[in-house]
Amino acid sequence: MKKINLISLGCSKNLIDTERLMSQLSRNHFQIQFEPENLNNQADAVIINTCGFIHDAKEESIEVIFNQVAAKNEGRVGKVYVMGCLSERYREELTLEIPELDGVFGVNDIPSIVASLKGVFDAERFYDRKLTTAAHYAYMKLSEGCDRNCSFCAIPSIRGKHVSVPLEKLVAEAQYLASQGVKELLLIAQDLSYYGYDLYKKSRLADLLKALTAVPGIEWIRLHYAYPHKFPIEVIDLMASEPKICKYLDIPFQHIHNTVLKNMRRNVTSEQTYDLIREIRNRVPDIALRTTLMVGHPGETEEAFEALKDFVREVRFDRLGVFTYSEEEGTYGASAFEDSIPEDVKNARADEIMTLQQEIAFQKNTNLEGRILKVIIDRKEGEYYIARSEFDSPEVDNELLVSANKELTIGSFQWVQVTSAEAFDAYAHWLREA
Ligand code: SF4
Repeated sequence: MKKINLISLGCSKNLIDTERLMSQLSRNHFQIQFEPENLNNQADAVIINTCGFIHDAKEESIEVIFNQVAAKNEGRVGKVYVMGCLSERYREELTLEIPELDGVFGVNDIPSIVASLKGVFDAERFYDRKLTTAAHYAYMKLSEGCDRNCSFCAIPSIRGKHVSVPLEKLVAEAQYLASQGVKELLLIAQDLSYYGYDLYKKSRLADLLKALTAVPGIEWIRLHYAYPHKFPIEVIDLMASEPKICKYLDIPFQHIHNTVLKNMRRNVTSEQTYDLIREIRNRVPDIALRTTLMVGHPGETEEAFEALKDFVREVRFDRLGVFTYSEEEGTYGASAFEDSIPEDVKNARADEIMTLQQEIAFQKNTNLEGRILKVIIDRKEGEYYIARSEFDSPEVDNELLVSANKELTIGSFQWVQVTSAEAFDAYAHWLREA
């Protein structure tokens, strides 16, 4: 059996592509090693699913490529293939500048990759996946590409226009994932809010959610990467009435100052943003809101940055990440603006936002003390079971360290009571099975 190492970089959308490729390759009797500890494990081939979103991600992808080319030159790896966003974006450059590569593939090239390894691609089983996440949760991609044109973002030029996956196919994929033992579905896309507009000429996110809540075995459904403009608010009403839909929403707002939002081409104003948040919280008061903000975008004056800090103080997000503006060639921002804000100012602003958020996160976490929560058990570490409530997504959000006087099954739902909290994680003790 030929051994193939798979290295998956970037976001969860890329990870799904990796999982689909792994399923196709194992159907062709290849022995798959997903991100082996020792990346230089002997292998007949290595496939690197690259990320080409922003500067740092591109650097990481290039570094991994050169490491694997070095492993090839030293005879530890037979062939080196690259796929994904970086190679979609820089196909020619990679082919010319790294002749040791045995294949440079894009984001929609799984059939060609399988063929180049002398395998047979099975289109019927395209949605099958070899899961790389914990067995009880999985990502599900609702669409590919994006129709928005945010000034800083190269994704539409890499992944193309928004293409929704037909609702029936997603329900079939959810049934397939449930048959693999998945209980928690993390719905992802470049732009979740736009689901259905291309195929059905209207939002069908709420319809999809209703259908997914009826899939036996799926207990939790979580929403990631919503877009504020044209956000289908009916989804929040469904969330309020349907316990299987986690009271959780990941919705990147990026900024709040009208001039910066305009420069970013976000098609939403400060007033509309505050109104949407108010509307969401009116309908689901205890919803956990995660957002992503960007500092240092051209035109972000001191006054605009002050407005962003006020936004963080006033809204008090439950989970927050911050990026610094990175000028990306081929984006509107790169042609329309000068990247005038110095890197040290960008980094200082990002630090200020995270310092503000840390205080808010700590206060919110201590408010959990004494609360009884339904959690899912992700793993065991030392004497604690590591768990999450519906307010926390895996790998990016907070965790609960649960002490229990009995063996708990990984992937099971349990009731726990929070005993103490820190800035991000908290401690709890086990009460009973859920
Ligand atoms: S919504 Fe904006 S930031 Fe997100 S993928 Fe589309 S263009 Fe990029």
